[in-house]
Amino acid sequence: MTSDVSTGRPGARYRGAVVPYITAWSEERALPVRIIERPLLGIGYTDESFVDRDEHGVLWRRVLSRPGAGRPLFGEIHTPRQRRAMQRLLCQVCSGPADQNEAGTLWLLKDHRGDWPGWPNGMGVTEPPVCLPCARTAINLCPSLRRGHVALRVAHHPIAGVQGLRYQVRLQRLQLAESDLVPLEDPAIRWTQAVHLIREITGCVFVDL
Ligand SMILES: [Zn+2]
Repeated sequence: MTSDVSTGRPGARYRGAVVPYITAWSEERALPVRIIERPLLGIGYTDESFVDRDEHGVLWRRVLSRPGAGRPLFGEIHTPRQRRAMQRLLCQVCSGPADQNEAGTLWLLKDHRGDWPGWPNGMGVTEPPVCLPCARTAINLCPSLRRGHVALRVAHHPIAGVQGLRYQVRLQRLQLAESDLVPLEDPAIRWTQAVHLIREITGCVFVDL
């Protein structure tokens, strides 16, 4: 089944349903890589090139970009598009600019207000923000948001780290330690294959959409 020709951009659709910009498609596989230890420097790829790392020197997972190919994998996030949307504060649904006003950038999150007083201030988020017209679409498309969500204005949202696969050397062998949130200033960032970019959100105010 084909999707809209503008796949991956505003209005991407599959069988009539809107497909968010950051949603992965079934043909967008992670490319096989061989991860090696670079003594004292962390991990790298055997055939690494400059596009594998970002401006912080972080190694990123290699994933094909073929929006519209195959079928959308709702609930799976495409690494390069998540990273781009997060970097540039683009709407996770249409990839246009996220909504901004004097109180900050518009975000939708699963409702975890019971987690700690002041939630979600200080939290690292992997979900990119949204624009106002797409906020309702995002809630309808995402099962976990449908179960309970909050809309918020975020005043401060610096890029803080990555979610990724952290490696370590044990008994002289490189091993996958765990999937982890790793701050940019943590030395473990050199041992992490990044999958999602994280912003830390503070100055959050709940709003009614
Ligand atoms: Zn949008």
